[in-house]
Amino acid sequence: MTATSFNNESPHPGLYIHIPFCLNKCGYCSFYSIKSINLIPPFLSALKQEMEFYSNHFQSFDTIYIGGGTPSLLTAKQFAEIFVAINKFYKIESPAEITIEVNPGDVSVEYFQSLRSLGINRLNIGIQSFDDSLLKFLGRRHSEKDAIEAIDAARTAGFTNIGIDLIYGVHHQDIKLWKRTLQKTLSFFPAHISCYQLSLEVRTPLNKKYGAEGIKLPKEEQQTKFFLATSEKLENAGYIHYEVSNFARRENLKSRHNMKYWQHVPYLGLGPAAHSFLNNKRWWNKPSVKNYSKEIAQNKMPVESMEKLTAQQLQLETLFLNLRTKAGINLEHYKAKYGADLFVDKRTIIDALIKNKLVELKNGFLIPTRTGLAVADSLALI
Ligand code: SF4
Repeated sequence: MTATSFNNESPHPGLYIHIPFCLNKCGYCSFYSIKSINLIPPFLSALKQEMEFYSNHFQSFDTIYIGGGTPSLLTAKQFAEIFVAINKFYKIESPAEITIEVNPGDVSVEYFQSLRSLGINRLNIGIQSFDDSLLKFLGRRHSEKDAIEAIDAARTAGFTNIGIDLIYGVHHQDIKLWKRTLQKTLSFFPAHISCYQLSLEVRTPLNKKYGAEGIKLPKEEQQTKFFLATSEKLENAGYIHYEVSNFARRENLKSRHNMKYWQHVPYLGLGPAAHSFLNNKRWWNKPSVKNYSKEIAQNKMPVESMEKLTAQQLQLETLFLNLRTKAGINLEHYKAKYGADLFVDKRTIIDALIKNKLVELKNGFLIPTRTGLAVADSLALI
């Protein structure tokens, strides 16, 4: 795999680091992770070497996102090592957004203080629910008490930019229970809230359980009710529903890193299974700590595969990604970039969508309404 260098005139790229370790596998999760935490030290050595590999292609970042897996399984000292390496090979542009995902139950005030001292300024806490029986059903290893203590500890340590991740559409969770979860979440006044609808990925324990016990996901109509109730409740509380699953308390509290993914801004993904994007090429690493470390030890890029996106693929992705955001599609930019006048070419469909209150036209933007966001993936089929 060869990556061409990043053009310095473009917006700054983002850096993603995948920490591929979890103490147990949550029932719904299809992300790559393993339980062998004894492999953390060799993984960190490989990660530092991978940073060096890419230092000729990427020079600086203004967002860093450390996800997983469970990054909070690493000690503060191990994070310090990671940041020494990042600073050795790249420049961190100011003001940078530096996020880490944490699992409630792994953390303490002292731990959060150490993370802050490294420059980490944003937390994503994987709370998922404030209901212990639901957490158990999902296979999470923390409790409601752990979640509340994690938020308190983060605040005591001085974090103000705190995001909470939640899941809805779980068996036995009706809208009333879900609204209670949202109300509880709002009581902590988080900067950011992500609400993900449960999906059953193949080869996950929950998929097997649903199949074996004949449990079904909520019907489409019920899922839409969850979605609309979520959007309405959080927007009424002052949050901006800026992407299908994401809400920010203020404009400047939107996830700058995730927005790069949605806007085709280049990003470098390090670690097993991590994806990267540069100059219309997307590539991803081998989803195996052992193979990843082995390749790097042999001075090879640990890349599993790479694809060069055609203009048509980029155009489709732009439609798909932009129609999942409240910002929508800038029709002029779209025309300039792809030579296609969406408003002329798709006039009949757009008129029908406007009539059905799924999109609206505002200041040259095609914007999904709240109901449109509920069916965002089908809007991209225009
Ligand atoms: S949901 Fe998060 S903590 Fe659970 S197995 Fe997946 S990556 Fe690990």
